[in-house]
Amino acid sequence: MNCRFCKTPVKTEFADLVNSPPSNSYLTEKQLNEPEMFYPLKVLVCEKCFLVQVDEYYKSSDIFSSDYAYFSSFSTSWLAHAKKYSEMMIERFGFNSNSHVVEIASNDGYLIKNFKEKGIPVLGIEPTANTAAAAKKNHGIDSVIDFFGIKLAKQLVADGKKADLLLGNNVLAHVPDIMDFVGGMKLVLKEKGVITMEFPHLYQLVLNNQFDTIYHEHFSYISFTTVKQIFDVQEIPTHGGSLRIFAKHKDDSSKPIGNAVADLLKKEKDAGMLSISYYTSFGPKIQKIKNDLLEFLIQQKRAGKKIVAYGAAAKGNTLLNYCGVKKDMIDFVVDANPAKQNKFMPASHIPIVTEQSIKDSKPDFILILPWNIKDEIVKQLDYVKGWGGKFVVPIPKLQIL
Ligand SMILES: [Zn+2]
Repeated sequence: MNCRFCKTPVKTEFADLVNSPPSNSYLTEKQLNEPEMFYPLKVLVCEKCFLVQVDEYYKSSDIFSSDYAYFSSFSTSWLAHAKKYSEMMIERFGFNSNSHVVEIASNDGYLIKNFKEKGIPVLGIEPTANTAAAAKKNHGIDSVIDFFGIKLAKQLVADGKKADLLLGNNVLAHVPDIMDFVGGMKLVLKEKGVITMEFPHLYQLVLNNQFDTIYHEHFSYISFTTVKQIFDVQEIPTHGGSLRIFAKHKDDSSKPIGNAVADLLKKEKDAGMLSISYYTSFGPKIQKIKNDLLEFLIQQKRAGKKIVAYGAAAKGNTLLNYCGVKKDMIDFVVDANPAKQNKFMPASHIPIVTEQSIKDSKPDFILILPWNIKDEIVKQLDYVKGWGGKFVVPIPKLQIL
């Protein structure tokens, strides 16, 4: 395999999670009796540019199919994050009814609706038809149903749809061909336009053992050092610590480069991100997480305790599959998304149910899988304290709350 970014051959291992089914391949009851496809899940690091990456074992068009279950609108803290972002951008760059905001991977419109509500023309680009349909139905937002790259960018330019603000949150990591994606962005961006992108920061992944954010459709794990042409950067708390980068055209001199850019480059250098040992020392850290979680689960099971989980997110699948946890350890997983309810987690076959099951079965422990929204979950399920129920978070280290 050649590096997705600099094309150097990559061989050095970052983490080997062995294998796993695609993380969003939730199973129906009928599918429990059918064979399941497992793909290798081995993460490598490029010794030249330090991009951490997995090989593309199967095509993006298979992953983001029409029954893709992820709807952004199901997390309230995520909606608040989107609203705050749009307010900040409108204030900082003065977007108005003459501007055009284009969002790549616009999902169900949870973010660009905030621009539309302020009278700013918007356009979504979204490969999954069902989420794009929800954007239209719920917020009146039009979407181009396609993957973004140079080909689509040329079409948008021909249709007069260039952007004053071009944004793509949590999409860069999912892109198999980064150069084609960035090339397309360059075409669609107006002369004085602004690009913002958010992506989980590799620095946080390593610091906080977030190996469960590794899955097949997540091709790249990015440090700030790897990205270029940036005039500002903000560190934000989403997904366990993300970066929001601000990019512009190379010859746009209207936007000076902020101090945060040099500061963050230094922070990454000081953390050792420019040396290969930083990356090769990650494997043993995640093995400890696995051992700690299994030890805890076995101990509690032996003591006759009831353990359930909350949040059927992709990261939950990575964690459970790497640790080999199945439905004999965890009775069920609760998820608020109706598209996942009454299905089963891939590989582990743990049933996905509504919150009512927690109230009915009064478990002793609730394992929180999406640790990035643990505060929200703990607050929402506050009532479990009534019967002595406790919360457990496995990452960055096993913790009983
Ligand atoms: Zn590279």
